Amino acid sequence: MGLMEKIVSLCKRRGFIFPSSEIYGGIGSVYDYGHYGVLLKNNVKQLWWQANVLKREEVVGLDSAVILHPRVWQASGHVSSFTDPLVECKECHQRYRADYLLEGKYGDIKTIDGKPRCPACGGELTEEKKFNLMFKTYIGAVENTASAAYLRPETAQGIFVNFKTIMITNSQKIPFGIAQIGKAFRNEITPGNFTFRTREFEQMEIEFFVEPGTDEKWHKYWLDERIKWYQKLGIKKDNLRLRQHTKKELSHYSKDTYDVEYQFPWGWGELEGIANRTDFDLKEHQKYSGRDLTYFDETTKKTYIPYVIEPSAGADRATLAFLIDSYYEDGKRIVLQLHPQLAPIKVAIFPLVANKPDLIRVAKKIYEMLRTQLVVAFDDRGNIGKRYYAQDEIGTPWCVTIDYDTLKDNTVTVRDRDTTKQERVKAEALIAYFNEKLKTL
Ligand SMILES: [Zn+2]
Repeated sequence: MGLMEKIVSLCKRRGFIFPSSEIYGGIGSVYDYGHYGVLLKNNVKQLWWQANVLKREEVVGLDSAVILHPRVWQASGHVSSFTDPLVECKECHQRYRADYLLEGKYGDIKTIDGKPRCPACGGELTEEKKFNLMFKTYIGAVENTASAAYLRPETAQGIFVNFKTIMITNSQKIPFGIAQIGKAFRNEITPGNFTFRTREFEQMEIEFFVEPGTDEKWHKYWLDERIKWYQKLGIKKDNLRLRQHTKKELSHYSKDTYDVEYQFPWGWGELEGIANRTDFDLKEHQKYSGRDLTYFDETTKKTYIPYVIEPSAGADRATLAFLIDSYYEDGKRIVLQLHPQLAPIKVAIFPLVANKPDLIRVAKKIYEMLRTQLVVAFDDRGNIGKRYYAQDEIGTPWCVTIDYDTLKDNTVTVRDRDTTKQERVKAEALIAYFNEKLKTL
């Protein structure tokens, strides 16, 4: 089994991530997160929020709506430019991205007279047409063009349209940023690679507003900050790189973009795009809305439309990268060596044997004490080896066992996930012990 199959299988087996609407046969490239998956992804989002909002005076938060005024997407260029070149097989009606066909992303394909043929059946393909990736919907009871709206394809525009309100209500001065975590939707032609490319996904975005001329300096700053964040949470250095977009790749709004890429089992893939969006968005929204979106600098007495640096990360992609990077096999043992801050469960508590009321009573007491402060689990099923095995697979950094010595001297064993070494600790000191460990990481 390849690494990716092992990850998908573990995610399903332990209920991290599984195909959506599975009892109906699933729905293409849409996934649900089960208990441990939600805990893990919430930790990813929380740690991002902590690093980028709570620890910075100059960044504030926002939670804007999924459905915006349709004019927003005209101003942003999404209605005209957010398209992929689409071709369809005339025989089997499979759809493909024309650029991917040429780049060989569907593997080696047959060509006739220099024209690519269908990778699935070898059939003839239609002429290329522009396919807009936005999901269309209708507002209110009438389905007509006047009531058409879109599910947001990025959270960024919710930030741009609120730029002035947020700046004023938070008394922000440039440079400052607005951050948002939320769902976005793109009707991808060919999604795939598990949760890497899906039609519904979650973004973690910052729009950082700066004075024109200082944009390149701030761009470098954010590249550095964002790479450090992934490394700090345990992604191996060799599996991360920064890649600059070629001129051809650049989005319509961008002056310069770098991708933070992770070495996935199928090759390098984007975790996060960090773009210099210039004043494109605010300028367009000023034009389309007729509202003044300029900024007045009180010290220099200059008025300008700010430039924007945008670190835009995928919460699902980061979660997937953390899962892959932490996967480790040690003989029969399968371990997710997740950074403890990311681990869904921090501590599991076991009575040494299941049918001893004395042990269970004390173990429950310790469990109740720890759960006031940490996300913990209690397990008294099967033998202790099996319980360790289960916790290793979901990445629990520490297991606490209550045994007969606990009844005598109130000490417990703490077993470390990565080293499997055990240590004897006083039960009443456990909260301080784990908080200290989590703090120093
Ligand atoms: Zn075909």
